[in-house]
Amino acid sequence: MAADIIDGKAFAATMREKVADHVSRLKADHGITPGLAVVLVGEDPASQVYVRNKRKQTVECGMQSFEHRLSPETPEADLLALVKRLNADPAVHGILVQLPLPPHMNADAVINAIDPAKDVDGFHISNVGLLGTGQKSMVPCTPLGCLMMLRDRLGSLSGLDAVVIGRSNIVGKPMAQLLLGESCTVTIAHSRTRDLAEVVRRADIVVAAVGRPRMVPGSWIKPGATVIDVGINRIAVPETGKTRLVGDVDFDSCAQVAGAITPVPGGVGPMTIACLLANTVTACCRANGLPEPDGLIV
Ligand code: NDP
Repeated sequence: MAADIIDGKAFAATMREKVADHVSRLKADHGITPGLAVVLVGEDPASQVYVRNKRKQTVECGMQSFEHRLSPETPEADLLALVKRLNADPAVHGILVQLPLPPHMNADAVINAIDPAKDVDGFHISNVGLLGTGQKSMVPCTPLGCLMMLRDRLGSLSGLDAVVIGRSNIVGKPMAQLLLGESCTVTIAHSRTRDLAEVVRRADIVVAAVGRPRMVPGSWIKPGATVIDVGINRIAVPETGKTRLVGDVDFDSCAQVAGAITPVPGGVGPMTIACLLANTVTACCRANGLPEPDGLIV
């Protein structure tokens, strides 16, 4: 295997230590405890796991966790009323509404009801606009985690060719904005892209955010490229009768060619939650007119 493995799990653990350190200083110096509210509507099993992990890590970092679980039949108006209450609650510095929402709800309307200053997911239209125009915003956690791993690995990204596969609002598009902000030459690929293999072969940086198990083979990767695999796909393993998680990248073949690669699990996933915690501390500092935490997001 040629590629270095980018250890997102270890990176995230270091980041959580820094978050915990900032939180204890906020408590000691200012008597403030950052608070994160997570709202889960329905019983999607994957969402339940994510919410449980977020709560555990929030509490472990010394922050307050407010969890709101609503039934799948909850009327949208009730969810909007809850968001309004959380917006007004001074103990809540970050609000996250776990997606996907049930089909009878308009996710855009719900996300845009969150106070942009508490929108720690960075999905509110104001934060999207701020990011797109290069202004200070709340940056979506998954792309932010990817960027931090890329900076750590490569230093300056200026002038590099980057291909982002996937154009979703939560990963692909903000990822492309961040890479553009780093002066990469960015290509966004999607399901209508012609000759994806050829597009990917040009890239010094490949970010795969598609949701198709092991779609990107090693034969598409430029030798020495850095490969960030955002995908989380659960597949059956017939030999054991169990399931396991794989990414959007075929790890074994890509690791033969790439210079560095993130594994699944243990790559982007842990960084996403660590960035959520960091965004909550940032939101708390901004809400209290305090300087932004130094060295948390690098
Ligand atoms: P979406 O389904 O919203 O978007 C998928 C994107 O992939 C779309 O833009 C789609 O194109 C594109 N696509 C689909 N098929 C192809 C194809 N054959 N060739 C090229 N592009 C294709 O997914 P998300 O962005 O929400 O998530 C992507 C993956 O990342 C999922 O596996 C998800 O579980 C994972 N994820 C992981 C997170 C983490 O913390 N690690 C956080 C968030 C997501 P088009 O627009 O044309 O349809």
